[in-house]
Amino acid sequence: MSEPDCLFCKIVAGEIPAEVVVETDRAVAFRDIEPQAPTHVLVVPRDHHRDAATLATADPAVAAHLVEVAAQVVRQDGHEDYRLVFNTGPDAGQTVFHAHLHVLAGRSFTWPPG
Ligand code: IMP
Repeated sequence: MSEPDCLFCKIVAGEIPAEVVVETDRAVAFRDIEPQAPTHVLVVPRDHHRDAATLATADPAVAAHLVEVAAQVVRQDGHEDYRLVFNTGPDAGQTVFHAHLHVLAGRSFTWPPG
């Protein structure tokens, strides 16, 4: 299921170009247009869900699959440690309302995040 006005649905459909690094039957991983680390990839479900919790309720296997794909991306880019982030809701920094897992790697990260 896709949403007509959703940016990430359009990337999944190949209607908007993206640097895709992994594709599976259920997910697509592509490089973030404004990378915050040497590796900054977004892993998205092919089907439209507005955020991670909605996805996990509707299809927990796909939610878990996003994490598997993230680990594959990190290995593929030659890194070991990484940070995974699901921004959920505007106050948490979510700007695109199609669930997406940020995969960040290739530098040190601080805690707490900003
Ligand atoms: P959010 O702020 O957690 O919703 O993350 C949205 C992410 O999508 C941001 O890191 C943006 O840089 C990224 N982004 C926005 N438009 C595009 C695009 O067209 N291609 C790839 N990444 C994008």
